[in-house]
Amino acid sequence: MSGAMGAVAFGGMASALPTNPDVVIVGAGSAGIGAARKLMAEGRSVLVVEASNRIGGRAYTESDTFGVPYDQGCAWLQGPRNLPHVSLAQDLGFKLVDHNSASDSFRIDGAPAPRKEKAKYDRAFETLYEEVWQADDVSIASVLPEGMPYSAEAQTWTTMGYGMDMANVSTADMNAYAEYQVNYLVREGLGTLVATLGRDVPVKLNTAVEAIDWSGDGVKIITSDGTISAQTCIVTVSPGVLAAGGIRFTPELPVAKQQAVQDLPMGLLTKVALQFDGERFGLTPNNWLSYALPSQQVPAEACYFVTFPTGLDLAVGFLGGDFAWDMSAKGADVAIDFALEEFAKAVGSDARKHFIKGHMSDWHANPFTRGAYAAAKPGRFGARQDLKDPLGDRVFFAGEAVGVPLAALCSGAHLSGENAAQMALASMESGACSSCDARGAAKQKLQKAISE
Ligand SMILES: Cc1cc2nc3c(=O)[nH]c(=O)nc-3n(C[C@H](O)[C@H](O)[C@H](O)COP(=O)(O)OP(=O)(O)OC[C@H]3O[C@@H](n4cnc5c(N)ncnc54)[C@H](O)[C@@H]3O)c2cc1C
Repeated sequence: MSGAMGAVAFGGMASALPTNPDVVIVGAGSAGIGAARKLMAEGRSVLVVEASNRIGGRAYTESDTFGVPYDQGCAWLQGPRNLPHVSLAQDLGFKLVDHNSASDSFRIDGAPAPRKEKAKYDRAFETLYEEVWQADDVSIASVLPEGMPYSAEAQTWTTMGYGMDMANVSTADMNAYAEYQVNYLVREGLGTLVATLGRDVPVKLNTAVEAIDWSGDGVKIITSDGTISAQTCIVTVSPGVLAAGGIRFTPELPVAKQQAVQDLPMGLLTKVALQFDGERFGLTPNNWLSYALPSQQVPAEACYFVTFPTGLDLAVGFLGGDFAWDMSAKGADVAIDFALEEFAKAVGSDARKHFIKGHMSDWHANPFTRGAYAAAKPGRFGARQDLKDPLGDRVFFAGEAVGVPLAALCSGAHLSGENAAQMALASMESGACSSCDARGAAKQKLQKAISE
């Protein structure tokens, strides 16, 4: 480990933080932590600059609300079988609860749907995937057959998944997702896992990056607490933060990148968790709860649930897309009341008798995320690569928005951070090479990392 990095700090202990790191990482979410760990493992000094008062970003577990670990942000650990998060979690002793086998209790008028209706409902998802698979880069809504039974229900689930109404999401975005083989809930919370992975990473908390000057050699990072110089920089903030102009670039971002930021708008998934007194309403833990919608109009006004995840006394409801923005703006009381009413109707019981309290996540209002995750506009799947492309071989971009084929996911963010670290390493290596051959080899490494 080089220079001041010998002293490692967690939680913004300024005295122990490197003042002149090789790499500055903007944002201590999953991507920032993934990048920092990779660089540190390669002996590079890093400093992560984080605007908020904690690490983890959209991976956030807290126990204050319900007295048990509750994920306000990401909760499912999803990805390919060899996902590094899984072995890291297991090595750290986290309890992973398999969720691949979860079933969906689909309800009509407060009772489990008759088998025939459930089959039609399941078929709607198959049709959606089949139609999307055959399409290029157009809106998901545009490829669905007119009058398809349970179209609104299928679109409602998908809207929750993307945080965006299906008229505004590209089929190419959906097709680019990797089939994930692992799908776990983390009993201690996925946010706790991400924070634990970041515990030895030097992070300067409560410090906003205001500008990045990449006009000369290296980079200058202008923060709310002074300027830091480094060889390279990795930006992991969401496209929502970039679109809001939260970070000024000198020289300005190239037009293609500015366009990419606009073409990757932030969707919204709002979680509305309902705590009950132990009553299970005939439902089993770790399953899904959905219901037939009164109208087939989309976007639908609905809240579907995961029931009693990891055995907690919680039904966690999801609002997605435009409806989520509307309800979130109305406030937690309205959203909780709505979710409770929908839950009660779905289970056909007076759930209010057993209700203790609820909680609504507030990613819609968080100035450091400005939504849940990004979705590519129809026709603009290429925006993800445009956003990822480095600036002058010294400013690299990571985060869920560029985490293809696990975009929008915590694991995709982490891997994109590792990939950006790889690019930064190759770039620094190339800058330090004394011979042309060595420089050429390092440049090739950089090109490989960019295209991965
Ligand atoms: C409600 C919800 C549910 C989700 N569910 C899942 C799920 O089940 N499974 C899954 O895999 N994914 C899920 N996700 C997505 C997942 O949480 C994200 O993809 C992932 O955590 C994003 O990580 P990131 O590092 O790209 O960004 P972030 O976590 O947003 O990290 C960026 C960091 O940058 C900081 N920052 C912002 N501006 C500045 C600035 N100017 N200066 C310095 N720092 C700044 C932010 O505070 C933040 O900490 C969910 C997200 C939400 C909101």
